[in-house]
Formats: sequence, structure tokens, C-alpha cells
Amino acid sequence: MRIAAGLIFAGVVSLYASGTAWSQTPATRGVTAPQAAPVPAAALAPAKAPCANPNALGIARVVEIDTTGGPGFGFEHFKQLDFLRDKEVVLTFDDGPWPLNTPSVLKTLADECTTGIFFSIGKHATYYPEILKQVAAAGHTIGTHTWSHATLTNKKLTEQQRKDEIEKGFSAVKWALGASPAPFFRFPALQHPPEMVTYLGTRNIAMFSCDLDSFDFKASKPQQVIDVTMKKLDKLGKGIILMHDFHKHTAEALPELLRKLKDGGYKVVQMKAKAPVQTIAQYDEEIVKDIKLPTVSSRPVSSVVQTISE
Ligand SMILES: [Zn+2]
Repeated sequence: MRIAAGLIFAGVVSLYASGTAWSQTPATRGVTAPQAAPVPAAALAPAKAPCANPNALGIARVVEIDTTGGPGFGFEHFKQLDFLRDKEVVLTFDDGPWPLNTPSVLKTLADECTTGIFFSIGKHATYYPEILKQVAAAGHTIGTHTWSHATLTNKKLTEQQRKDEIEKGFSAVKWALGASPAPFFRFPALQHPPEMVTYLGTRNIAMFSCDLDSFDFKASKPQQVIDVTMKKLDKLGKGIILMHDFHKHTAEALPELLRKLKDGGYKVVQMKAKAPVQTIAQYDEEIVKDIKLPTVSSRPVSSVVQTISE
């Protein structure tokens, strides 16, 4: 049973009329944008230096999502919430954090003074909490993508195991960040078991499919990522783009892809949550226990590695 996302349409997306402090793109005022009082920059992103790139892609507008009832985004699976205007895109990155590739994606986004949503795998967050902290420090939105990237439609999993994958993913990312992420979730392989869609609705967690898949995980070269994405985007005219900061090709493709977005007149929309996710204490505790498992060696590096000549 699909949750009735349409019922919560009215309150789900708030539109800020102004860009963020580091946006170089003038605010776009549309008929649906409320003429709200200016939103303090601090509420939109951590304090940042002004954008140094006068020709940056920037951020056209910021939308705030009320995740009550678990709204779904991305027309591949959820058709109720069509909030993007023509030529608007949302950049999303899955499966990180990962060494080299995630920091490379962060640098490219910073060079263009723009932003995305990072759907982190719980286990990866526990491996590389410092990288995930960099994602947060740069002002990007962080959601989750299960604990171990299990495909939740797998019939071998019990309903409880599916819930565990979701909840442990959120608790792991919270542990890594030292703060709760957004209640934003993407199912691995975009496989949506109906009972988990219902469950996320009860947890007030928004679900993200996509409007267009870059198929970067299938690409053998960065150019393919760019070509597939731009071809689909030019056909659709707007959309939530699915990419992976986990993949080297994506990190390598991103500078040119963002240039092409800018040259093509596309604008980036930042999606933020109205409130952080409420994790469940049992899973928070489980993560802490996992992290405290003895490692292969707890000896300090100086007692293991000594320079004997230089
Ligand atoms: Zn994934």
C-alpha cells in the first residue's frame, strides 16, 4: 500500500524566495513562492565565505521539506509532489562517504558554490565519519541509504530486518556526524517494498527516488556520465538527478557536468528538512556497541611503526 502522499501535499514544501549566502544566482520569484521575510543565512547553511567564482552555478532557491507522513520525491516512483520549475535540478549523491571520491565531489560543488543531497550508507559513515563531517560542514543536506545497502525487496529479509536496515542507517549517520541528519531516505537500487514505504510514512521520513538516473555506476568513463545525464535532462527539462559520490567516474565527470548545467541554463535547488530525523535509542546504542568492538590492534601507531633510518 502506497502512503497517501497527496494528502500532505499542502504543507510539504516551503519555498524560500531568496538564494543562500553563497549563491551567485539571483533569486527566482515565482507565483508559488511566498513573499516571506528574508531567511537568515545561518538558517540555510553554515557560515561560508562568499562565492569566489563569479560564474558559478550557485543555488537558485532553497526548499524546506516538512517530512510529516513521509512524502515521496522523484517521478520514477512518486508522482504527487511536482515542485521543480522548468530548468531546475536537484543534485543527489549516493553510497558515500568514500575516500578521494567524496572529497573530490565536495571540492567541485564548492568551486561552483552549489549543493546536493548525500544519501550515505550507514556502514560507510562509520568507516569514514570525518569525510561525512566534511559534507555537513560544507552545508550539504545529508540523508541515508540503509545500514549496509541491502536491497529491501529481498525476500530473504524479514520485515524486522528491513526496518533494522533503515533505522541502523540513520543511527550510524547520526553517530558519524554527532548530530541527526535530515529525515531523507533513498531505497537501495530504488526498490521500494510497499510495507517499508508505509513504515517510513509512520516515521515521518521523506523518500527519494529520482527523476533521472545518471547510470554512473554503469559508466566506464566520466564522459558517459555527462552524456547520459544531459541527454535525459534536456528531454525532461528538470529533475532530481541520481549520482554516486562513491564512484570515481562521477567525481571526475562532475566539473564538466556542472559547467554544462550552467551553460544549459539549469539551476540548482537546495532541499533541506524542516526538522532533523528522530532516531530510535535502541539503534543508536547498537551502533555505539558496534563501534567499540575490538580492532585488530589497539596499539598506538608509534609503538607499531618506528623510523629506523631516513
Ligand atoms: Zn546505492
